[in-house]
Amino acid sequence: MKYLDEYRNPDLVKNALSQIRLSVIQPWVIMEICGGQTHSIIRSGLDQLLPPEIELVHGPGCPVCVTPLEAIDKAIEIASQKNVIFTTYGDMLRVPGSNFDLFSVRAAGGDVRVLFSPLDAVRMAKENPDKQVVFFAIGFETTAPANCMSVLQAKQLGLENFSVLVSHVRVPPAMNAILSSSENRVQAFLAAGHVCTVMGFWEYLPIAQQYRIPIVVTGFEPLDLCSGILQAVTMLEKGLYGVENRYERMVTREGNRHAQQVINQVMQSADRNWRGIGLFPESGWVLRPEFEKFDAEKRFQVQNIQTRESPLCISGKILQGLKKPDQCQAFGTLCTPQNPLGATMVSSEGACAAYYHYRKVGREEGTS
Ligand code: SF4
Repeated sequence: MKYLDEYRNPDLVKNALSQIRLSVIQPWVIMEICGGQTHSIIRSGLDQLLPPEIELVHGPGCPVCVTPLEAIDKAIEIASQKNVIFTTYGDMLRVPGSNFDLFSVRAAGGDVRVLFSPLDAVRMAKENPDKQVVFFAIGFETTAPANCMSVLQAKQLGLENFSVLVSHVRVPPAMNAILSSSENRVQAFLAAGHVCTVMGFWEYLPIAQQYRIPIVVTGFEPLDLCSGILQAVTMLEKGLYGVENRYERMVTREGNRHAQQVINQVMQSADRNWRGIGLFPESGWVLRPEFEKFDAEKRFQVQNIQTRESPLCISGKILQGLKKPDQCQAFGTLCTPQNPLGATMVSSEGACAAYYHYRKVGREEGTS
């Protein structure tokens, strides 16, 4: 398939790896921000084919993984109520809350449905006027435009029975938090190509300037990733910093201005808790006051939730690039995709799930 196979072509990837080997002299730590990139790297074994000087660490760009525990518990509480149709993306069903997950709610008779688009939830609200339809609006900048569109559409249709449980996060504040931490090891970032397709990369320029690091906008196929790594290594070896775009077929500096306008019309930035990591200032989005009537938290009065995270789970350290999944004592034993203790073992973009499915480490062969 054109534009896909060519980015997975083994000969081109081998060539790119040779160029990386020729370019690297010193050891470098590079973080791929996005969980989709992590899965592509682990699935293709790219990290094991790189020269030993380059260490890839996995970033917090997995929306399911960083959705805070209190948001999961609120979702469970709302979904358990009578006359509620609770709708969400598929990965969220198995994410453990303090005591249950959304699957348990469905097994107990709750009406929990998996959707591919929040606009389907709006349609569902129109067709079920006697029910409250709630959409779990999670994600990074990629899902925000469609989630905001659902609120605008519900307003236009005058729906009184549609609301969103918002837990949106933004990449640039997370990068800032990682780089300003005293424990930070990251020397360059591979920025997430799909986020930059929406937002452009202009927001990253001040970060690259402030911390004097390379940030390379990178795609998701093996050749994309090699190209991003090569660019980052070349800049690191030359002592250069700044933002470079290696996902030119999708990303422009300005991004999708119309999508950005839709987000800004419906949401405003706010402090946000990231699961296992903590609070980053201005790292999330919430509904603007004029859209308050669509806020599920206010409609269902679920603000005071007491949470309890597994004491074994170190996903917060993994998401900051400080640990690898196979360094968790529960990996593959107490924590598996069938019995997850943390969200990073559940999500299709989670680093623990990637190691579990594509690496035979910490578990017996054939147990997946
Ligand atoms: S293996 Fe399980 S318990 Fe350990 S960090 Fe990953 S999700 Fe958490």
